[in-house]
Amino acid sequence: MTSALVFFGTLASLPVTPHSMSSSIADIAVPVAVSKTFHYHIPDALRGALVTGSRVQVPFGSRHVSGTVIGFPAEAGTRGLKSVIGVQGEPVGPDLMRLAFWMADYYLHPIGLTIETLLPKALDSAKQRTRRLLRLVDGDHDLDSVRGPKQAELLHLLCDRQVMPFEELDSFSPSTIKALCSAGMAQVIEQEVEPGAGSGLPAPDRPPALMTEQAEAVRRIVEASASGGFEVFLLHGVTGSGKTEVYLHSIATLAGSGKGAIVLVPEIALTPQLLGRFRRRFGGRVAVLHSGLTDRERADEYRRIRGGGVDVAVGARSAVFAPFSRIGLVIVDEEQESSYKQDEGLRYHARDVAVMRAKFQDAVCVLGSATPSLESFANARAGKYRYLRIANRVDHRPMPEVEIIDLKTAPKTAGHSAALVAAVQDRLAKGEQSLLLLNRRGFSSVLICGDCGRTLQCPSCSVSLAFHKREQALKCHYCDFHTAPPVRCPSCGGAALKPLGAGTQRIEEDIAAIAPSARIARMDRDSVRGRNAYDELLGRVDRREVDILLGTQMVAKGHDFPAVTLVGVVDADVGLNLPDFRSAEKTFQLITQAAGRAGRGDVAGEVIIQTLNPGHYALRHSRTHDYEGFYDEEIGYRTELGYPPIRRMIKIEVKSSREKLAVEAAQAARDCIRHLLRGKETTLLGPASAPIAKVRGKYRYQMLLLSPKREVIRRLAAEARSAVEEKFCRTVQMIVDVDPVNLM
Ligand code: ADP
Ligand code: ZN
Repeated sequence: MTSALVFFGTLASLPVTPHSMSSSIADIAVPVAVSKTFHYHIPDALRGALVTGSRVQVPFGSRHVSGTVIGFPAEAGTRGLKSVIGVQGEPVGPDLMRLAFWMADYYLHPIGLTIETLLPKALDSAKQRTRRLLRLVDGDHDLDSVRGPKQAELLHLLCDRQVMPFEELDSFSPSTIKALCSAGMAQVIEQEVEPGAGSGLPAPDRPPALMTEQAEAVRRIVEASASGGFEVFLLHGVTGSGKTEVYLHSIATLAGSGKGAIVLVPEIALTPQLLGRFRRRFGGRVAVLHSGLTDRERADEYRRIRGGGVDVAVGARSAVFAPFSRIGLVIVDEEQESSYKQDEGLRYHARDVAVMRAKFQDAVCVLGSATPSLESFANARAGKYRYLRIANRVDHRPMPEVEIIDLKTAPKTAGHSAALVAAVQDRLAKGEQSLLLLNRRGFSSVLICGDCGRTLQCPSCSVSLAFHKREQALKCHYCDFHTAPPVRCPSCGGAALKPLGAGTQRIEEDIAAIAPSARIARMDRDSVRGRNAYDELLGRVDRREVDILLGTQMVAKGHDFPAVTLVGVVDADVGLNLPDFRSAEKTFQLITQAAGRAGRGDVAGEVIIQTLNPGHYALRHSRTHDYEGFYDEEIGYRTELGYPPIRRMIKIEVKSSREKLAVEAAQAARDCIRHLLRGKETTLLGPASAPIAKVRGKYRYQMLLLSPKREVIRRLAAEARSAVEEKFCRTVQMIVDVDPVNLM
């Protein structure tokens, strides 16, 4: 039935392997939640056109889906097999296919869905981008000959402009446009749009001469890269040590080698500031991949990389899949960032995938951080990664002074320590900038009833609602539930509801009272929505139109503002007491990052940390900028408890809208695992209700598998999943999270 064939791509450009020449069956992975793949018949017209990695359309059930050829089985019978319908676009390259198989295996995820995660969404559907334009047909047009005022208005406009893009014709209905075309006065034309780096590239900069430690790091990275083998470096450089400059220099040496570079940065660090540095150095040969792109823009960038028009791809998590056919360097900046871990679907950790990508393409991987994750530092200590240290800031600027204030005893002004208030006022008087970190949104964390002590909870999540004073709303930070604050306590009817615990909105009010003349900006997910608002706010800080920037962790990360000389951590305890074995590590990292924003210019920086736990080791070591001291103490606790990186961890979570089913499924998983559990070194913790027991109306139970051998717990998790899926299919959702980061 060749007539049913639809060709989406240009077949001529597809490479041909001997495999598909002789084979009449293709093994195809389709994006469905099963780990098996499916055999399809290859019709004659496609014989020889398919390779491993080819993207194809196939019938699946009652619909058509996009799948990927993963092989050509030898068996003969094609009876009963459905046929491949057509080929779409370019095949997935062999290295990315290999990475997909590794990921599917490592993260226990169906291969068809895994491949889909690697590809940008609109890749198959979006052809070369075109723009629709409406053009005036030459000749005399009589305004009286058109019907109605709308048509007249459009004709008028066209006579004036000659050609107009459809985006600007929103105010005219399709029938109005059609009428002018039918009357022979206008014409629709399509114009191809070159996907490109966009206009307005900044003027190129001159790379600075490197500091000694930077130069040494570059030398070793370049040496390894030139030798053409796989190697991982941990680049451990204090904040302000010029790590980005190390990346830029290392990448520059790849020029002309035909090998590309991938640079991963946390989404939040993808600011115009950082992109500007790459564009000034590498001009239009930079591709950018971030969540603000439309599917189509992403597909354009993807094609540009594949077409060889790009030397460097900079982006968040998914940029690790940038389709370079040859790669020299894979760089992961701020490698400790938890945002590298995808928290839904295929729960991959982009840092770990980056290491494997480099491995499969014989490239050098550089993991950069001022506060490496315990995992990476342990690997460096064990000699698996090569260790590069930059102990000094650029130009030997001093590290900031850090002062820890005990909120239990410190003298207070307006609810804050007198020291912090005085420091803020002092910077204001000197015209320097301050940055205040409070990792909690809203006005207060909760509204509490002064009579019965009850707090107001989200109806579908087991968390308290946060009070947002400005909007006069109670909001759930886990789902989108929001409501007006009640006048009376729903529990006892008392009228004594009051805010408890401070959020960013409350601090904004406090600071405005303390420093009435200050230009204050707040940065959190409520005040900054979308990339533009975020970039715009950072621009204002950069131009020194803001005196005090306060906000959640968004203010702490990556920015380079030379005029910031004071960093205040308003409440260091927010993250310390979470039921997460990484809470100390995350707090140490956040405070070190925040402190790293201070004193990046000519004036030395100062950091003030307010806490109720002044003796906590995460704070003690951040005061002295002592990463290794922190590491040694933390790894001691991890060793005692057998937590990562000492043992490997897999989290199993079961979710159901019926609590009873969630409990039963969790118990079934537990029984299955216990039955198979051997030896003392592998353990199962739980099941227990998750710290946030209910989210979006689903009850959550979780358990943790720990073992020094990944393979052991991988098998246990797979068995448990089969057991649960068989018994509870459809009523319970089971999630297997390998190397989990989010334990809440
Ligand atoms: P990090 O990422 O390690 O915190 P950055 O790479 O952002 O540090 O560098 C901090 C600042 O120092 C930036 O403004 C950068 O342009 C500047 N810088 C980096 N290296 C040098 C150098 N060798 N000479 C002069 N300035 C430098
Ligand atoms: Zn909720």
